[in-house]
Amino acid sequence: MSKTPMMQQYEQAKATAGEAILLFRMGDFYELFHDDAKVAAKVLGLTLTSRDKSENPVPMAGFPHHQLDSYLAKLIRAGYRVAVCDQVENPQQAKGLVRREVTRILSPGTITDNSILEPTQNNYLIAVAPTNDLSSFGLAWVELSTGQFVAAQGDAAVMLDLIERLNPAEALVPQNQRTPLAWGSPSFALTTRPDWTFSPARAKDTLYKQFHVSTLEGFGFDDSDSLAIIAAAAIVHYLSETQAASLDHINVLHAFRRGECLEIDQATWRSLEISRTIRNQQREGSLLATIDRSVTAMGSRLLGQWLMAPLVQPAAIEQRQDSIAELVRENRLRENLRQDLKQIHDLERVISRVFTGRATPRDLKQISASLTRLPGLRERLVGRTSYWLQFLQVEIDPCPDLQELLDRAIVDDAPLQTSSGGYIRPGYDSELDDWRELASGGKRWIAEYQQKIIQESGIGSLKVGFNKVFGYYIEVTNVHQTKIPDYFIRKQTLKNVERYITPELKEYEDKVLSAEQQSLDRELLLFDQLRETTRAYAARLKQLGEQLAMLDLLAALAELAVQQKYCRPEITTGTELILRDGRHPVLDIVQPLGVFVPNDTCLDAENGWIHLITGPNMAGKSTYIRQVALITLMAQIGSFVPAKQAMIGIVDRIFARVGASDELSRGQSTFMVEMTETARILNTATSRSLVILDEIGRGTSTYDGVSLAWAIAEYLHEQIGCRTLFATHYHELTELEKNFRGVKNYNVSVREWEEKIVFLHKIIPGGADKSYGIHVAQLAGVPDWVNRRAQQILNQLQSKQQPTDRERMANAGSRAAQVQLTLFEVSEHPLIDKIKRLDTGHLTPLSALEMLHGWQQELQQVAAKKSRVD
Ligand code: ADP
Repeated sequence: MSKTPMMQQYEQAKATAGEAILLFRMGDFYELFHDDAKVAAKVLGLTLTSRDKSENPVPMAGFPHHQLDSYLAKLIRAGYRVAVCDQVENPQQAKGLVRREVTRILSPGTITDNSILEPTQNNYLIAVAPTNDLSSFGLAWVELSTGQFVAAQGDAAVMLDLIERLNPAEALVPQNQRTPLAWGSPSFALTTRPDWTFSPARAKDTLYKQFHVSTLEGFGFDDSDSLAIIAAAAIVHYLSETQAASLDHINVLHAFRRGECLEIDQATWRSLEISRTIRNQQREGSLLATIDRSVTAMGSRLLGQWLMAPLVQPAAIEQRQDSIAELVRENRLRENLRQDLKQIHDLERVISRVFTGRATPRDLKQISASLTRLPGLRERLVGRTSYWLQFLQVEIDPCPDLQELLDRAIVDDAPLQTSSGGYIRPGYDSELDDWRELASGGKRWIAEYQQKIIQESGIGSLKVGFNKVFGYYIEVTNVHQTKIPDYFIRKQTLKNVERYITPELKEYEDKVLSAEQQSLDRELLLFDQLRETTRAYAARLKQLGEQLAMLDLLAALAELAVQQKYCRPEITTGTELILRDGRHPVLDIVQPLGVFVPNDTCLDAENGWIHLITGPNMAGKSTYIRQVALITLMAQIGSFVPAKQAMIGIVDRIFARVGASDELSRGQSTFMVEMTETARILNTATSRSLVILDEIGRGTSTYDGVSLAWAIAEYLHEQIGCRTLFATHYHELTELEKNFRGVKNYNVSVREWEEKIVFLHKIIPGGADKSYGIHVAQLAGVPDWVNRRAQQILNQLQSKQQPTDRERMANAGSRAAQVQLTLFEVSEHPLIDKIKRLDTGHLTPLSALEMLHGWQQELQQVAAKKSRVD
């Protein structure tokens, strides 16, 4: 491309934009060049053309400027960062080339635009500050649209779990340092940043400046939190660089501490389908979406945050429960509060636009409309008994002055833009009223003037018109040209008509046009003042948003409890987990009423803390064990639970290793993934954890699988002693019950009826003794021929009374148990005796080696003999 001045300007803008896609304003279009054009062609479906077709063609694509918002949204949703380069001076007044500048850089993690944001979902930008060996890292996350800002630090694995739960839109990582995020293909945009923005030396100062403080101790951070602080500072740097607006709404940094909430690792989070389903990664069908009864987007987002960090302190859980209980009891109160809340807008996001100076007239109207509801809502909370309702009654601040001002100032149906005016109420400002009257009075004058000159000239068909280029004019058809009075000044000749102006008309035109402009200017000035006044309330309004989210969520959980007939779980400091008639929270809601079969769970010292659940495929094992994990999770956010009665000893971590099929798409060996996750459970579970395991060991051969499952169950019993639900189709494992006090067998009952089976989905004590694999194949539509033949083979195998695979496995299983139990007593092999008799105190290294060699030969000879016999 030859370097025209325009293209030089483009390259400068491109340098500012960095890795972002540049939308370059040229006249009425936004244009993209080079690789940006190719991306746009693919993502936006634009036609790819080229500039400088002859010598050096440059790929180019573009779209009309008024389509900017929708194209921006598409690029951001596709995970791109986008820089917008605008004309920053009026092209008509520019001398030479119009000045252009990058005015905004948008990225998936920094959007505040309502049309792109999902109202009910948090949209997080995170930063990751790793140690050199990547063993641990600092992690900070911010939601620019609400100002929520949090930092944490810890082991890499724990931080990665947190990232999975946050489901960020964009992550900042240092440019030249490896980070754990580069592994795999993350589902978020990865933005590399200069290393200095992660510099430990500057981090604190950056945050001091942001929060106007001289220590971070007030936020609960000290010197041991350096990684968390670096990550938080990296976010502030990035935002200050990319956001032209103020960051004042980011005024608090919260510390997220391990141990203050229930931990849920990545695999568990995914397999319990808490915020997204495994199958299609959608929110729809997840626990979050299914149990959400909030009436404000703020409540929905808060539910997401609560599920991400369930509580571990019984007192805090009970505080939430108390308020939910009160709202369950008080039907009228709950219904009225929910009616009030329905009228309240997304204050958290509106307020951040006030802070950043981007509030629209509609935003201010939404604030005043929301505030209007608050005195009544507060009144309803008077005299309530539970902690949170009392707290909210005291804390909710209806800001009456602001409400009155905004209500008086802004019209009911306020527009999104200020450009065409009309959003300030008549009567609010007398100067504005005067200008408006003149503007409309002027128009009336034109009509009267037309009448007047018709009479003066006698030309009945004469018209006074207006267009943007010529302003006001008098239009006369050619037929009447002879009647034109002297004071008409010819202005324009068209096909059959002539257009004129008069000095009087010109004078009025100036007045009217300027009155319109004056009124627009005045309105804007008043609006700026209103914005500033509102800004002074912004910190209070931000808190108000949080309080209303809390109230909405408590009422929503109460509503859910009433609708679905939940019970209030008793939270204890013990290690029991007892549910009577527990139901799966999602299936309970999505299945028709009465279809779901409830089940009891009784994990405790008396009834065993490891339950082995056997039963054929499709019987309902996975559903059952997931339901116990989900009920526990719900209980620890303070919610009531789908059961008739529940007693839950606080759980510190939930681990779920369920099925392996979902991992295939991640390109890892299924079995390897299964074992990695199992290893993590065995290495990190504590006696307070809840472990649910589904079909462990399925990814390998049967013998391997049973042996591993067996050993894992033993380890959980002997070494960890945590509450465990172990679903398996290896019936051999039921033998474990005989050897271990804490292990109890359960199975899912199945009824056989005319060679068919009926799944009753009922968990009953005892082990299952049949697989029903062929029946399930039949249900699944495997051709009859195959089913009949399989039944014949099965009958033959059983009638020959040869040990079936299963029986062999059972024997192997009990042998394995024997070996495990008698490991230190084994004495059959002659070599063992020899080793026992050794006098190691007088053994030289050489003689030891010779002895070893001798034993090895002995063993090899035995093995060779055995293989000849076989
Ligand atoms: P398994 O793990 O034993 O193979 P699943 O838990 O996957 O079986 O359940 C199989 C099917 O049975 C699912 O479609 C589920 O909806 C249904 N189901 C499971 N448990 C119940 C229950 N308690 N009540 C009603 N339907 C159930």
